[in-house]
Amino acid sequence: MFGIVQGGIFDDLRAQSAHFTSSLDLPGYAIGGLSVGESKEDMLHSIEVVNAILPATKPRYLMGVGTPYDIIQGVARGIDIFDCVLPTRLARHSTALRLKDRLNLVNASFADDPLPIDENCDCYTCQHFSRAYLRHLILAKEMLAATLLSIHNVYTLIRLTQTIREAILNHTFQSLLEEYTTP
Ligand SMILES: [Zn+2]
Repeated sequence: MFGIVQGGIFDDLRAQSAHFTSSLDLPGYAIGGLSVGESKEDMLHSIEVVNAILPATKPRYLMGVGTPYDIIQGVARGIDIFDCVLPTRLARHSTALRLKDRLNLVNASFADDPLPIDENCDCYTCQHFSRAYLRHLILAKEMLAATLLSIHNVYTLIRLTQTIREAILNHTFQSLLEEYTTP
């Protein structure tokens, strides 16, 4: 059971909530109420306020986040766990998530494109299907398009977290962080 820290973008309320939930000595702590429309600066600042208080020896879970940029910025501020609808929601809207950009496969430029979504990706979708075929499925309103894009998008975020973990263990996290400059 995790305690969920609330408090919006108000430092005093965040601190009060973080102190109270910490006092309950729970197995882990979640940070709720962020990534709901506030600015990136406000979100990252609130994470810093809360994580300065939560016990460093317990897992910290940032709820509803997020993009590759948000995930790596969260890790830089002490977050251990994420969850988000982003990869599957983007998939239902014909968008392929890549580590540093996105492809909207509806675009006519992909009509005859034989490449996979990401040439460096070894997910099931990228190993078997071209951008052109995925675009065909989308235009035909075939459900398989969202399924295949979801497989790729979720895989991409898992691959990112594996890369982050390796960078932390190899003491190269700071340079990895500096590669992700675009929110
Ligand atoms: Zn892929």
